[in-house]
Amino acid sequence: MGDQSPAGAADPARVEEIRANLAAVREDIAAAARKADRDASEVTLIAVTKTYPAADVRILAGLGVLDVGENRDQEAAPKAEATAGLGLRWHFIGQLQTNKAASVASYAEFVHSVDRLRLVPALSRGALRYDKGLTCLVQVDLGNAEPMEANVARGGARPEQVLALADAIAEAPGLRLGGLMAVAPLGADPGPAFARLHDLALRLRSAHPSATMISAGMSGDLGEAVAAGATHVRIGSAILGIRR
Ligand SMILES: *Cc1c(COP(=O)(O)O)cnc(C)c1O
Repeated sequence: MGDQSPAGAADPARVEEIRANLAAVREDIAAAARKADRDASEVTLIAVTKTYPAADVRILAGLGVLDVGENRDQEAAPKAEATAGLGLRWHFIGQLQTNKAASVASYAEFVHSVDRLRLVPALSRGALRYDKGLTCLVQVDLGNAEPMEANVARGGARPEQVLALADAIAEAPGLRLGGLMAVAPLGADPGPAFARLHDLALRLRSAHPSATMISAGMSGDLGEAVAAGATHVRIGSAILGIRR
């Protein structure tokens, strides 16, 4: 990250670049919402800041983006510490190892990537240790490929495992069940995959009425996600640039 710039000394060219990208992304969300007869205010934009420095997170906060996402604890923990006090809400969106759960619970308000039962007690202990509520989403594997392959590639619980995982989260002290998260399967049309996610979300909601979050959509498929009812989109490269 190598970010030594003090707060308040943001590079003006970078501010303008992020501001313009952000405006375009917000316009894409608004257009997709209009097309789907939805209100754009139903869709929360999470800026995914992985590989980008804390200075960019400060710029985003200055532009009013307080929901930020990271996929690796080793990178997220120091970034969250460097930007403490800005009122940010950190969303952990990556594959999570049990031994990192406590660290993630120390700064994150949302964990989108709960995909196996073993994570639940670990996250619960972390949430209790830091005396905070932690909202957890069940990550669903929408892949059509071999189960093992899909799991290795993108993560996620099989659809038939979702309700059991959701029940475990809902019952765990310190945890709140937020809803579902998914990444579109590689090399397949995201529309039908997100439609399956929406069906699963409706089933989940009949068992857990407050679990209303649907986290879906990245830079390349945010329109399809908003059309399929996403409440949270996770946008990285369209805002901050292509990661090298
Ligand atoms: C990196 C990442 C994103 C953002 O992807 P972009 O294509 O850069 O918008 C969204 N979700 C997850 C899980 C990611 O790892």
